Amino acid sequence: MEIKYNISLKPYNTFGIDAEAKAFVSIAAEDSLTEAVSLIPEKEPLLVLGGGSNVLFTRHFNGWVLKNEIPGIEVKKENENNIWVEAGAGVNWHQFVLYCIEKGWAGLENLSLIPGCVGASPMQNIGAYGVEIKDVFEYLEAYSLHEKTFVTFSATDCKFGYRESVFKKELKNRFVITRVCFRLSKKPFFHTTYGSIQQELETMGVTELTIKAISDAVIRIRQGKLPDPAVTGNAGSFFKNPEIDTNHYLELKYRYPELPGYPASMGRTKVPAGWLIEKAGWKGYREGDAGVHDRQALVLVNYGQANGEQIYAISEKIMNSVLEKFGVELEREVNIY
Ligand code: FAD
Ligand code: NAP
Repeated sequence: MEIKYNISLKPYNTFGIDAEAKAFVSIAAEDSLTEAVSLIPEKEPLLVLGGGSNVLFTRHFNGWVLKNEIPGIEVKKENENNIWVEAGAGVNWHQFVLYCIEKGWAGLENLSLIPGCVGASPMQNIGAYGVEIKDVFEYLEAYSLHEKTFVTFSATDCKFGYRESVFKKELKNRFVITRVCFRLSKKPFFHTTYGSIQQELETMGVTELTIKAISDAVIRIRQGKLPDPAVTGNAGSFFKNPEIDTNHYLELKYRYPELPGYPASMGRTKVPAGWLIEKAGWKGYREGDAGVHDRQALVLVNYGQANGEQIYAISEKIMNSVLEKFGVELEREVNIY
């Protein structure tokens, strides 16, 4: 096992922030994970990294970074309708989605082109275009950093919510996810009602709907709208879409008739954070190399040499301004270190 000291994390986070880790180890199997954990001095901070596409480093990381590279895709069981597929935490998410589509296994196609690794997908119950992984999640395996044992979590154990799970809340920093199993379908149910998927399928001239066509449509929409982290540093949506009291929504709707809203749980309404941020005047805002993307106000960007503190400072200003203008409290989706 090679331990690297004082290395730059710039290649390991999609914001391209040049923070340093005190120690860095790549983990390609369960036994190297347990070995690495045993080497970490007590009280020394530990951070598990997948693709680094949902993190912002605001300072150097004064601890150990474990880069999860556990590989492998394995069919666990199948019946007439379903197939249960397990993937190692280090498998690239989009490659996994494409692999399943090629095999004809449905369920993940709407989640095409999300950066990062399989192991991080349950962390915030990744979602896009009307589908979340909780819809197809079967179980995950994780290593308990306290008990030093492997534990299996069911969907109920994970307490999935909107961009949430138990791993972002009460079990934060307590487990390393090593494998995730998905229950995919041999008889697809197509999700095309969301946003612009239907429109994109028409533009593509699709006459026979397939999971591949949906994946292609999602990829095309995303490529047209979102900055490519390989070109402009970013971590996708910086904030969650807030779910506000429906009475509050109706008051805002009276003032801003064009404000979109979607029914959420318990009499609440989900409002697109990007709309609020744009309306508050932040779209395309730039301060040095830190800024707000000019096509999608929900995405904060690093144009080159910005540091994490500068990006964080802009997020703070946006939150204050949205609160002042609309009375809506935004919550960061990106994990801050
Ligand atoms: P990382 O950034 O490496 O880690 C994220 C968090 O999870 C960190 O706290 C980390 O410590 C923890 N973690 C990672 N792996 C493990 C593990 N194995 N065990 C325990 N903890 C772990 N997200 C969506 O939900 N929907 C989208 O549509 C979407 N689109 C995006 C588009 C762009 C252009 C970008 C840059 C990001 C987008 N994201 C989206 C956010 C991000 O891609 C996802 O959250 C993704 O799952 C993060 O994976 P990762 O491997 O990069 O995680
Ligand atoms: P969009 O389609 O312009 O819609 C704006 C927001 O309105 C979305 O975030 C979405 O919330 C909500 N919305 C739109 N249509 C909806 C419907 N029919 N039912 C319920 N909610 C609806 O959004 P976008 O920014 O281009 O992103 C497209 C999809 O990719 C979204 O699902 C988004 O979450 C996902 N995405 C996520 C990230 C990330 O980093 N987390 C980055 C890029 C894109 P939802 O977010 O709940 O879908």
